[in-house]
Amino acid sequence: MKYQEEDYLQMSGIQHFCFCRRQWALINLEQSWEDDARTTAGQIFHEVADDPTIKEKRGDLIIARAVPVSSSSLGLTGKCDVVEFRRSDDGVPVGIHEGSYKIIPVEYKVGHRKQEEWDEVQLCAEAIALEETFGARIEFGQLFYGEERRRKTVEMSKDLRRKTELLAEDMHSAMSYGKIPEAEPSAMCRKCSLQNICMPEALGHSDSEDYLQRMEESN
Ligand code: SF4
Repeated sequence: MKYQEEDYLQMSGIQHFCFCRRQWALINLEQSWEDDARTTAGQIFHEVADDPTIKEKRGDLIIARAVPVSSSSLGLTGKCDVVEFRRSDDGVPVGIHEGSYKIIPVEYKVGHRKQEEWDEVQLCAEAIALEETFGARIEFGQLFYGEERRRKTVEMSKDLRRKTELLAEDMHSAMSYGKIPEAEPSAMCRKCSLQNICMPEALGHSDSEDYLQRMEESN
């Protein structure tokens, strides 16, 4: 399926959508956002990675920053923090540069690696978009975690690609539906910067209390 440009959604939203669909909807349908210490640190951290004035060439390596990308198959548009072009005989041509190159997207994250695949799906969406732009096949990307000061290599596997495609499809359906899903309080809420706006415990508890009360009344 190909999406029209006017229907493209923010690529970075895929990690919010993966984390909590209500969080994604609050940000994208209600434009709610509240910075906490973690998101502010993340912004500062990204400003360093995203400076488009910085472009480097080191021997067989070209490093580009804040690279705009979009994917018509996913219907997503955004920016890659860093894209590395490593010279390789089985790569693809890149602009005016001599030779061919393998392409590696690198996404910067302020914290540390997680059990869940929120960061991996964003990286995969970036890889798919770069593949469409350059006609390349991207085998892996890398996540750089600020707390660890280390990169994690992520294989662009069939499963990760499929998961990313399905999430993008669901994002478009959620955007068309246009309603904010109910809060489903979980351990994730403790890590959520929108806790004060969402108030999951108030909503979740009152809903479940109402439900239990109705059940009692009906017996
Ligand atoms: S507080 Fe919890 S339910 Fe509410 S948006 Fe955040 S993660 Fe989702």
